[in-house]
Amino acid sequence: ADAREVTIRHEPVSTTDGTHIEVAANLGRPAELDGARAAGADGVGLFRTEFLFLDRDAPPDEDEQYEAYLEACTAFDGRVVVRTLDVGGDKPIPYLDQPEETNPFLGERGIRRSLGLDGELFETQLRALLRAGAGAEPLSVMFPLVATVEELDTALDTVEQVTDDLANEEVEHAMPELGVMIETPASVLVAAELAARVDFLSIGTNDLAQYTMAASRENERVATLHDARQPSVLRAIRRTVEAGHEAGAWVGMCGEMAGDPALTELLVGLGLDELSMSAVTIPDVKAAVAEIDRERARERAERALVAETKDDVLRVLDD
Ligand code: PEP
Ligand code: MG
Repeated sequence: ADAREVTIRHEPVSTTDGTHIEVAANLGRPAELDGARAAGADGVGLFRTEFLFLDRDAPPDEDEQYEAYLEACTAFDGRVVVRTLDVGGDKPIPYLDQPEETNPFLGERGIRRSLGLDGELFETQLRALLRAGAGAEPLSVMFPLVATVEELDTALDTVEQVTDDLANEEVEHAMPELGVMIETPASVLVAAELAARVDFLSIGTNDLAQYTMAASRENERVATLHDARQPSVLRAIRRTVEAGHEAGAWVGMCGEMAGDPALTELLVGLGLDELSMSAVTIPDVKAAVAEIDRERARERAERALVAETKDDVLRVLDD
């Protein structure tokens, strides 16, 4: 057993030179709310809403969703980022239409479904989110697996339309902060255009590594390739951070990579503003942030960005 004492920090943490880094929790089940608070999460960086739709035979209605989002928001003083439904790929939901696809990971998943097959569900979810945002701020909403500017524009049009509907019905609502998940190489390449339209970007390294490296996140045989420490993935992260910041958007990370304390210095050096992870790793990552000198972190990140191989990256991290 690990006898190490880990201090739980309930306050936000900064690097030694005073740069605040938000350390937030990923939630996959409502029961994880308490654990996230106990671990010292500043807020929620990824609220996976799939769980609301699992283990039942019909989707939750607007009120049920509203209650769940409101509960999450009121549990934290800090920001709570809710991701719209991300089904398809590795996340099928039995009662939703499941098209036959030979390669579901390259098929209709994430935002593609919300703008197509699941359009009605998407509107209901947005209604619940905009209502919850009025009850507890700050609520943020982000869209998964965006690949094109058109997808984002269509999603934003839907947000507008839902806002108009709620206003016409005189239902209390508020416009949340809006963001895009960066999970595809396509979205990295148009990150500037995406960031110009929203408040934040959140990098999902599980999918970003999978699609950048063409290596399944579920296949042990290609695990060496599916690794966010690959030079290509690091450069994709860097490019995203730069594009986001130039457009005035904050940039976070909510893939597994964000929860590895051995990589915290590198991520801060790459310029990330927020790191979101499963609750268990929060104390260690907060402890790591508090030790970081940002100048040194930047230097190390620059060296990692010119590394030609993963081994070179690992040497930079080790030294
Ligand atoms: C990711 O892809 O990195 C991510 C955070 O989303 P999920 O793991 O739910 O696909
Ligand atoms: Mg993902």
